[in-house]
Amino acid sequence: MAEPASLQAVIRSCLDGVAATQTLSPRQWQVCHHVLDCRTAALGGLALSCDQCEAAALCYHACRDRHCPCCQRRASLEWCASDNARPCCR
Ligand SMILES: [Zn+2]
Repeated sequence: MAEPASLQAVIRSCLDGVAATQTLSPRQWQVCHHVLDCRTAALGGLALSCDQCEAAALCYHACRDRHCPCCQRRASLEWCASDNARPCCR
């Protein structure tokens, strides 16, 4: 089954090819690895379980990088809904 489309999937499939042909700055590498590791076991997480039904789930930590669409989606939506996103007509 194909992986769902996401920036994480694009970076995972393209980073090695890009790195072979271009020089990324340390910050660009850092952002790519933040997005790659976001909400995966690489950043650790919590094992949650229900006392009632004994259901269990893993909840991984987020990268919180400002470039990560998973972490910044809510902030982006809030900004788009705010007055700052409206074009200036003055
Ligand atoms: Zn993230």
